[in-house]
Amino acid sequence: MIIVKTLAEMQNISKKLKKEQKTIGFVPTMGFLHEGHKALLQSARKENEIVVLSIFVNPLQFGPNEDLATYPRDFQRDKQVAIEEKVDYLFHPDVDEMYPTAPSVTVKVNKRTDVLCGSARPGHFDGVATVLTKLFHLIQPDKAYFGNKDAQQVAVVEGLVSDFHFPLKIVRIDTVREEDGLAKSSRNVKLSMDERKQATILYRSLSLAERKITEGERDPEEIKLLVKNMINENSDGIIDYIEILSYPELEKLAIIKNTIIIALAVKFKHARLIDNLILTI
Ligand code: AMP
Repeated sequence: MIIVKTLAEMQNISKKLKKEQKTIGFVPTMGFLHEGHKALLQSARKENEIVVLSIFVNPLQFGPNEDLATYPRDFQRDKQVAIEEKVDYLFHPDVDEMYPTAPSVTVKVNKRTDVLCGSARPGHFDGVATVLTKLFHLIQPDKAYFGNKDAQQVAVVEGLVSDFHFPLKIVRIDTVREEDGLAKSSRNVKLSMDERKQATILYRSLSLAERKITEGERDPEEIKLLVKNMINENSDGIIDYIEILSYPELEKLAIIKNTIIIALAVKFKHARLIDNLILTI
């Protein structure tokens, strides 16, 4: 595996790989790799001749009161995981390399961004779209892999790829969970032992919502109330949002129909956790 630190080197590598007509699978991450990231890497490994993993904690997508400084990092461990997952190129630029000056142009996301994490984290998806635009240009992947764990992010990225005509395919990977249902996340390490136990309520409440919908409930407000009560009764976490929206359009619904997302965000002391289920009725 080759570790790439500079943009120039990454560009030269992609240019060479393109000339050799190699297929490139790209997995963008912020590191502190876990089974969720591994699932993305394994799909990329199966479907491409070359796998590029990026590890970059992107300051542009963090708000002023968010956890940029304390976001978990362990490059040595990540490097081992990348080797085990047979990554060919690990792109790990410094912040100064990616943004030597304040960007003169950024990408502004207009759709699918005024709800869920978009409204709770203003500017977040602009930061995601901007860094991905840079990474897609530098790496020139044929396929890029994203997790449904961040379902709004994938919906936004699909808009970016389509509007800006990036010649690549977005591949979605299902959420990988712990045995007790908690979605794997780099931020889970920031939970206290007690919070870690309480955090199972995210998936348990989503599962309750799914069961009610399967049994015939079609009123989003009724389901949201059930989920809210279940979370409040079983954890100290503060609910940021619980939403049921059409997917991938992320529009409000008077009645549950077709493909929907039930999404929630809950704030614990040192970690804000998100989870969702996408269902087709
Ligand atoms: P992050 O490092 O958190 O920015 O995540 C990088 C990629 O891994 C994103 O596309 C995420 O959606 C995906 N990902 C994170 N957690 C999981 C998970 N538990 N299951 C599947 N994919 C995930």
